[in-house]
Amino acid sequence: MAKKLIGYGDFYCWKCGKNIEKGHETCPFCGAAYERFDTDEAKGAGGVGWSSQAEHSSFAAWRKRNRRTFQICMILLSLVIGVILFVVPGELEFDAEGLKIYAGVLAIVWAIDLLWYYFNNKTRKDWEGVVERKLTEEYTRTVKDEEHGKHKERHTRFIVQFRKADGGEEKLTETDKPQWYDYLDEGDRVRYHGHRGMNYYEKYDKSEDEVIPCAGCGSVRDARENFCGRCGCIILKS
Ligand SMILES: [Zn+2]
Ligand SMILES: [Zn+2]
Repeated sequence: MAKKLIGYGDFYCWKCGKNIEKGHETCPFCGAAYERFDTDEAKGAGGVGWSSQAEHSSFAAWRKRNRRTFQICMILLSLVIGVILFVVPGELEFDAEGLKIYAGVLAIVWAIDLLWYYFNNKTRKDWEGVVERKLTEEYTRTVKDEEHGKHKERHTRFIVQFRKADGGEEKLTETDKPQWYDYLDEGDRVRYHGHRGMNYYEKYDKSEDEVIPCAGCGSVRDARENFCGRCGCIILKS
């Protein structure tokens, strides 16, 4: 299974976390076979207790790659906007007036994207608590498209409510894709990692789970993985 994942999107060894190229049967760094783990059972591999790896260097490396990707995307986007404005006939003349409008458009695009980036990577307070309640809410949204015209779309909100150790409340809301909602159960002890934009809910007792979400890229991993095959971040296990 792991080998197939490596070939189609996984680029990091599950055992040592090193970046590896496609086409290997085993990891060139540690020798781990992609196709099998050390144990047959994923359940139990997560263990019981808080992970001590929340500040592991793989997270800093992942954040650095993320930032670089963001910067490259912004530069490319700026160029594409320029091409559209100046090259597509009937848009802008390449003169002082045209450049001023281009600069204005770029300023707006950059402001929105930087705000989005800041919000997704800002530091939030860490806390501990217990999952108090899980609930869902159905709601409809009116949307318009060419095929159906104006119509109503049904959506679901998945909500997990926490009671913090200091007595306060926290909650998380997911729309349509219930990843945390599926992973967390009522009564679970949880440690929230908000430092350096992590935004991750670590379960104290991971021994009953076959999967553990990655605290870097958020993909759901086999509990036997030490490192996320997709982003190389260490999996927070006990
Ligand atoms: Zn390896
Ligand atoms: Zn990951």
